[in-house]
Amino acid sequence: LFVTFEGGEGAGKSTMLRELGEELRAEGYPVLETREPGGIRIAEKIREVILNPSHMEMDGRTEALLYAAARRQHLVEKVVPALEEGKIVLCDRFIDSSLAYQGVARGLGLDEVHQINDFAIENSMPDLTLLFNIKPEDGLARITANKGREQNRLDLEHIGFHEKVYEAYQKLASQYSERIRIIEAGQSFESVKKDALQVLHTYLSS
Ligand code: C5P
Repeated sequence: LFVTFEGGEGAGKSTMLRELGEELRAEGYPVLETREPGGIRIAEKIREVILNPSHMEMDGRTEALLYAAARRQHLVEKVVPALEEGKIVLCDRFIDSSLAYQGVARGLGLDEVHQINDFAIENSMPDLTLLFNIKPEDGLARITANKGREQNRLDLEHIGFHEKVYEAYQKLASQYSERIRIIEAGQSFESVKKDALQVLHTYLSS
């Protein structure tokens, strides 16, 4: 079972991924927790190149290609083998991030970003996607308060950029409503966790 976690900055998806991983493991499921861009040596290197705050001149298409390259390597090296072993793979970000950030917010176009991602992932789409929904201003306020978070190039983007990401995720959720489930991430930690677990349990028992 391939589950991806999506959302804008400060939605809390990475924390929730760890929490849900622990819960599922305690219930006896074999779980792999991983993240994008990164998760393996080569993709973590690509991540450093993409997110380096000194790389502000990076062209949008270059960025999209680097994400797709990191995604491909991570998929073949880590995700697919784990799925073949019967694990539940919980992956922090996947193709929907590229559609929202590069396709819409950077303005490259959904079709173009779909094309390079189809090449990169072939048919390995997630079975289920949890979209952690939070208004951009609330999410950004959370990351400003979190001093331990690593700084990245996206932190320097204007609020308008994050609003486009938010809108794009809403559209993706209605377009792919059979795969994407919205979790209201502005609630308390416990409520978010409860909602996310419920979605996972419903899927696992279906
Ligand atoms: O989720 P995480 O905070 O690790 O993501 C790192 C950064 O990469 C975020 O600022 C996110 O907005 C950005 N990103 C992006 N396009 C993607 C994936 C992530 O701009 N396709």
